[in-house]
Amino acid sequence: MTPLLEADDLVKHFPIRSALGRRVGAVRAVDGVSLSVARGETLAIVGESGCGKSTLGRLLLRLIEPDSGRLRFEGEDLLALPPAALRARRRAMQLIFQDPFASLDPRMTVEAAIMEPLKLHGLHRGRERARVAELLARVGLRPELARRWPHEFSGGQRQRIAIARALASEPRLIIGDEPVSALDVSVQAQVVNLLAGLIRELGLTFILISHDLGVVRQIADRVAVMYLGRIVEEGPAEAIFRAPRHPYTRALLAAVPGQGGKVEVLEGDVPSPVNPPSGCRFHTRCPHAEARCRAEAPALRAGGPGHPAACHLQEALPPAPPLRERASDARLERLQAFFTRETAA
Ligand code: SF4
Repeated sequence: MTPLLEADDLVKHFPIRSALGRRVGAVRAVDGVSLSVARGETLAIVGESGCGKSTLGRLLLRLIEPDSGRLRFEGEDLLALPPAALRARRRAMQLIFQDPFASLDPRMTVEAAIMEPLKLHGLHRGRERARVAELLARVGLRPELARRWPHEFSGGQRQRIAIARALASEPRLIIGDEPVSALDVSVQAQVVNLLAGLIRELGLTFILISHDLGVVRQIADRVAVMYLGRIVEEGPAEAIFRAPRHPYTRALLAAVPGQGGKVEVLEGDVPSPVNPPSGCRFHTRCPHAEARCRAEAPALRAGGPGHPAACHLQEALPPAPPLRERASDARLERLQAFFTRETAA
């Protein structure tokens, strides 16, 4: 079956200019990323801040133009669409931001904000108000709140409103860019539950951009790990969490609270994407780096059965220590408790 979304070798470098306007370098935000997302699948793109994942999310929706590469949505060449056709196509693709204020105009009531995409795309004509009420109910808010203003709501409620607005155009693909990371931990759990339920009930295809592997583990079917503009490991979520191959993925997993990993904990900051390290870009932080790693960039390949990783030594590395299941069980229990409380309220 044709994937819903396919990206092939996407590149985006942001030029750096001198005071006189001369190009003196570039931020290599995305540097040759290929991926595909099947219908109904939840793909998580994970990595530290500055690894290029948010830029990749915007490229996938063509909110910014890539320097090169190919991008297909439902088999159609998204990069070849003229502006008017692209605007119409966007009905099927929505973005949820980290900060719900980014998608909610403080001068619009909740009703006006959710009604805007309905009117833009001519949906539910004559019953827009009723549709707004349905959408609010779907995200767990009382319909009578529609007349209120965004500043009257808590962060979690605002994110629910932003989700309702994203759903208004009846999208097939939603990209969530750190959709819960600005919220309190307790509220995070509620919004993650809400998203998981909506994905399941509406059959949505979802791309979750996140640095929080705890959240990723709860809702992702597949995971792509990004480091300095490139995907370094990609595979089913269960396999990535159970048997990570790339030292960077192992270090990220070891840093999940409750895992207590000591073997490969990340040290230092992500190097500058203006001048990334030679060879394997992770070699400056990798505990296994050797001479070859500094000279030769590893390809994303499956070294044996299972999912691919971009590491020269993936076959030679010792197995990753198992995750402590009890930590995730405790987290799931907390989620369930919040969900039960919220449903009862
Ligand atoms: Fe580490 Fe070398 Fe593998 Fe890169 S290629 S992750 S530096 S072992």
